[in-house]
Amino acid sequence: TSHLLGRIASHEQLGALLAVEPEGALAAARDADARRADGDAGPLVGVPIAHKDIFVTRALPTTAGSKMLAGYLSPFDATVVERLAGAGCVTLGKLNCDEFAMGSANENSAYGVARNPWDATRVPGGSSGGSAAAVAARLLPAATGTDTGGSIRQPASFTGTTGIKPTYGVCSRYGMIAFASSLDQAGPIARSAEDCALLLGAMSGFDARDSTSAERPPQDFHAQMLMPRQGASATRPLEGLRVGIPAEFFPAALAGDVDGAVRAALAELERLGARLVDVSLPRTELSIPVYYIIAPAEASSNLSRFDGVRYGHRAARYEGLDEMYRASRSEGFGPEVKRRIMIGTYVLSHGYYDAYYLQAQKLRRMIADDFQAAFASCDVIAGPVAPSVAWKLGSKSDDPVANYLADIFTLPASLAGLPAMSVPAGFGEGGMPVGLQLIGNYFHEGTLLHAAHAFQ
Ligand code: GLN
Repeated sequence: TSHLLGRIASHEQLGALLAVEPEGALAAARDADARRADGDAGPLVGVPIAHKDIFVTRALPTTAGSKMLAGYLSPFDATVVERLAGAGCVTLGKLNCDEFAMGSANENSAYGVARNPWDATRVPGGSSGGSAAAVAARLLPAATGTDTGGSIRQPASFTGTTGIKPTYGVCSRYGMIAFASSLDQAGPIARSAEDCALLLGAMSGFDARDSTSAERPPQDFHAQMLMPRQGASATRPLEGLRVGIPAEFFPAALAGDVDGAVRAALAELERLGARLVDVSLPRTELSIPVYYIIAPAEASSNLSRFDGVRYGHRAARYEGLDEMYRASRSEGFGPEVKRRIMIGTYVLSHGYYDAYYLQAQKLRRMIADDFQAAFASCDVIAGPVAPSVAWKLGSKSDDPVANYLADIFTLPASLAGLPAMSVPAGFGEGGMPVGLQLIGNYFHEGTLLHAAHAFQ
C-alpha cells in the first residue's frame, strides 16, 4: 500500500485519481495484515484498489466527475465498495471518469483529462479512463469501473488491461450514481482474467437494495475460470469451444491494425482448441441510434434529482425557485451532460415518444433476440472492442458524434444485458494496445473468464 501510494503521488500527471486517502489506506492495510496474521487466507485480503468516482464512499468525496457533486460526501458506501472492503481490499482512492460516466475518452471530466500510460498524448478511453490508466501504469493492481455502453471494455482495450462487464443484475447498482439504469453495470479492470475473476466474485451477488439485482446463488468465478473443459488438454484448453465471429464486427471501416490484431487473436484461440463459426448480428449498426436514444432518455430522468436542493451544487445568485434550478444546473453540469439531458427530454416528449423512444425499445429487443439466434451455434462471440486504438487527446473532443460512433462494438452487448469482456490481444498503430472482445450468454461469465485465462 505504501509503495503504491508513492507511485500514485509521482504519477499525478496521468490524471488517474481524483482523491487519495493515504492515512485511511494505511490503516486498512494494517487491518488486513492483522486479518492475515489471524489466518484469513482470502485472496483479496490486503490488495490495494481504488474505485471509479461513480461509486459513493463515506470516507472519500464522490463527484461522478462532475462539478455538480464537488466535495460531496455520501452518508453510505455503495454495495460494491462495501463488499470489496469486506473481502479485505484496501481502498486507496477514487478514480477519474467522464462526467456521470458519459463519454468514451475521459475528456468529459470536470476535473481534467486522464492520460494513456502507453502514450501520454493519447486518451485512456472512457468513461472508466482513470481506472484503466491507473491499472496500466501499475498504480494499482485492480480497480472498479462501470459499463453502460462500453465504459469498462473500451478503456481496458485502450490500455492493455483486462476488464469484464457482467450480466446486467450480477453486481448491485446500489450506491452507483445512475446514468442509464437499465444498462449500468459494475465490473473490475485488472491485469488479468484471473484477477478479474477474484474481484468479480467479491463484488457480485444478490442485493435486496437494488430492485434489478439478480436473485442467484453466489458465484465462484475463479473456480469456473479454472474448470477444465471436457476433452481439453494442456495444449488445447479450449477444445470444442465454439467461438462465433459476427461479420458485422469486421466492417470496412475497422482500422487495419485492429483487424490484424483481433484476427491474430482469433487464430490463437483456434490453436488453443476453439472452433470458429460464422454468426450474424445484423442490427449491430443500429445499436448506436438505439443506445443514444435510450441512454439519454434514462439519464434525463435520473439527473433530474440534481436540482440544487437536496444535494450538489447550488448557484450563489438567483431570484425565485425556477431560476435557482436553472442557474444551479447550468453551472453544475458540463456540455456533454447537458446535451444528453436535451436529447433525453426530447425523445421522451409527447409526440416524439412513439417515433423515437418506443422504436428504440422495440429494436433493443430485436438486438437481444439476434444474440440468442447467434448463441444457438456458438458458446461465445468474439470481435474487436473498438474500431481503432486510443486516439490523440483533443482529436475528437469537439465532435460528440465521432465519439458515439466509436462505441459500435460495445453497445450491442450492453443493450442485450449480456456479459462481455476485453482481453489484451496485441498492438496496433503507434504501439498502442488492442483488445479482443468476448461476449457470453446470460450468466456465462465463467465461460468468458475461462477462455480469456487460457488465451492469456
Ligand atoms: N461511451 C458511451 C457513452 O458515452 C458509454 C459510456 C459508459 O459505458 N458509461 O455513453
